Amino acid sequence: MFGAIEAGGTKMVCGIGMETGEIIRHTSIPTTTPEETMARIFEFFAGESIEALGVGTFGPVDLDPDSDTYGHITTTPKVRWANYPLYETLKSHFGVPVILDTDVNGAAFGEMKFGGAKDVSSCVYMTVGTGIGAGAVIDGELVHGMGHPEMGHILVRRHPSDDSNGVCPYHGDCLEGLASGPAIEARSGVKGHLLDETDETWDIEADYLAQALMNFALIIAPQRIILGGGVMKQQHVFPKVREAFKEKLNGYIQNQYVDNVETYIVPPTLGDFAGLKGALALAIYKEDIHHARR
Ligand code: ADP
Ligand code: ZN
Repeated sequence: MFGAIEAGGTKMVCGIGMETGEIIRHTSIPTTTPEETMARIFEFFAGESIEALGVGTFGPVDLDPDSDTYGHITTTPKVRWANYPLYETLKSHFGVPVILDTDVNGAAFGEMKFGGAKDVSSCVYMTVGTGIGAGAVIDGELVHGMGHPEMGHILVRRHPSDDSNGVCPYHGDCLEGLASGPAIEARSGVKGHLLDETDETWDIEADYLAQALMNFALIIAPQRIILGGGVMKQQHVFPKVREAFKEKLNGYIQNQYVDNVETYIVPPTLGDFAGLKGALALAIYKEDIHHARR
């Protein structure tokens, strides 16, 4: 058995799963103070014997294996979690390999092992929810570089009819600032799920997302792009994003992947389990790199 935690700013989804990717038991715990939340997580796993624990976490998080603050949540607006030693706390409690990565890197890896990217070796997973983040698997390996990418904060060109300010506390009108759930709400005055499908906000949304996906396609050449998160529950946005993506790319890249845009830009096949199964995939397939370096 393997343990999996999808650690989010709103909730922590915990699960026990098998090597096949099957989740045997899971629960969702609200994210409150670190002390209270961790106690409930430990309670869920009590009495289970797990071989390894995979964790896909919100961030930013220190993922430099040589860093003294490896596995600490860094600059989160959730003040009580800022600088929280997530890796150390889990490692000392469970005493098994703990494989930590970002929630979106986990989701990208999970889709590759168990979901809609099983037939390719490179993919990008982008979530559009309270924030925007993306993870990438290239040639079978998760992209880390100096830590982990922060593709949600890339710069996009303004849509001509968008005069909203942008809600990113760091950059104002970056991608997250203009296209996250809160950005949609700030622009239109209502939450996304209450907006009519014909509302112009969705055209603006699709334009920003398509710009981001074009950049991803140009920079890292993934063979598939998966879009998840609360906002993407609006299925009607997918055709709009695909159309805008094709239009912007304007035939510049032509290959078996991009040419079939319906299978290039897709929802997660693991659905609401993308995060948890991603964490499970980390536990099964990855090493505890920090521990190995010590
Ligand atoms: P989180 O990012 O906090 O983990 P979600 O991915 O569910 O959680 O994202 C929450 C954001 O997505 C909120 O801003 C919410 O308004 C928006 N959202 C959730 N469900 C929908 C929906 N069905 N349609 C449009 N927007 C939605
Ligand atoms: Zn930003």
